[in-house]
Amino acid sequence: MNDYALVLNAGSSSLKFCVFQRPQQEGWRLAARGQIEGIGTAPRLSAKDDGGKSLADERLDAGSVRDGRAAVDVLAAWLRARYGGARVLGVGHRVVHGGARFTSPTVVSRQLLAELAELIPLAPLHQPYNLAAIEAVFERLPDVPQVACFDTSFHRGQPAVAEVLPLPLDLRQHGLQRYGFHGLSYEYIASVLPSVAPEMAGGRVIVAHLGSGASLCALKEGRSVDSTLGFTALDGLCMGTRPGTLDPGVVLYLFQSLNLSPKDVEALLYKKSGLLGISGISNDMRDLLYRSEPEARLAVEYFVYRAAREIGALAAVLGGVDGLVFTAGIGENSAEIRRRICMASGWLGVELDAEENVGHGPRISTRQSRVSVWVIPTNEELMIARHTGTLLGLR
Ligand code: AMP
Repeated sequence: MNDYALVLNAGSSSLKFCVFQRPQQEGWRLAARGQIEGIGTAPRLSAKDDGGKSLADERLDAGSVRDGRAAVDVLAAWLRARYGGARVLGVGHRVVHGGARFTSPTVVSRQLLAELAELIPLAPLHQPYNLAAIEAVFERLPDVPQVACFDTSFHRGQPAVAEVLPLPLDLRQHGLQRYGFHGLSYEYIASVLPSVAPEMAGGRVIVAHLGSGASLCALKEGRSVDSTLGFTALDGLCMGTRPGTLDPGVVLYLFQSLNLSPKDVEALLYKKSGLLGISGISNDMRDLLYRSEPEARLAVEYFVYRAAREIGALAAVLGGVDGLVFTAGIGENSAEIRRRICMASGWLGVELDAEENVGHGPRISTRQSRVSVWVIPTNEELMIARHTGTLLGLR
């Protein structure tokens, strides 16, 4: 059995994991991908191998898997049982916020953990769980090195106008700036573009990461120059349960006239808005796409409208567009949403090849399309494994 690197993505109610091995010293190979979901309610462990064969699918005892730490224990036991004599070479974590300071993946230390804890108010629904998983590994496997990979890092280096929030300096000194997220996804896409679509990899590319969280990133020569998510993961596009761009006056009104509490407003903005808020039916695009209720149709229309509008905005930032890439759950799987966004972006020179689009590409634009359009599956976990291997010097 080969030694392995573990990639963890810890959320409020789930612990996603990947096991990567490197049998021939070249590149990481996915050995298992799984999750413990329903933490605190109805916990369940499931895992599959690279070919999609089930390795585990079992209900867990709700009383003993109440939090993320307990989930790490369950995972550790499963890994021991499955990979017996093999060593864990390192653990790479997805950490949502690295603030302005962490511009690249970083080896975890107690000091780093303390600094990352200061960023919890900037990502209250993700950061605490990311850090709890690091703590749990620290306690159980103190000798295994860990690496934190941030969703914000790839965007550092953007021009000042893309990062600044137009607020007084004394407030901005508290870290108020635009950070951008989904950076590991964009970094992965940027890393494969030279081999997948070399003709536009060095040009002006807009990547649409459309999943339950959604954003766009403007790439120039493979580097992020702007994105639609900002200070928190609430900005920009309409998402499953988050509204995207919202007049800040709305938030004032919620506080001052409707007397909502900060906790109520937080829950509204992170969990009850977006597709779910508009439709009143579901946050899942699959549930909404072909429904006839006017609210469901409006939710889908708004999702497409915002995406097309922001593509136009980033086209202005880039001074034109050479390529458009769709990725993540909706971007990779929904030909209909891609079709609608491409139709609305026709003025930019996007010309869709309907057949290729239905077949999910990878290239879905016609030969004569001025903008070449692609579907490229993202792989944030592989990006984390690569960073972990590089930083820890794993062979
Ligand atoms: P992600 O956050 O990237 O895992 O994406 C999850 C979202 O992708 C789900 O909430 C669904 O809304 C969406 N999704 C997955 N498959 C499809 C599909 N075939 N059609 C439309 N939406 C899909």
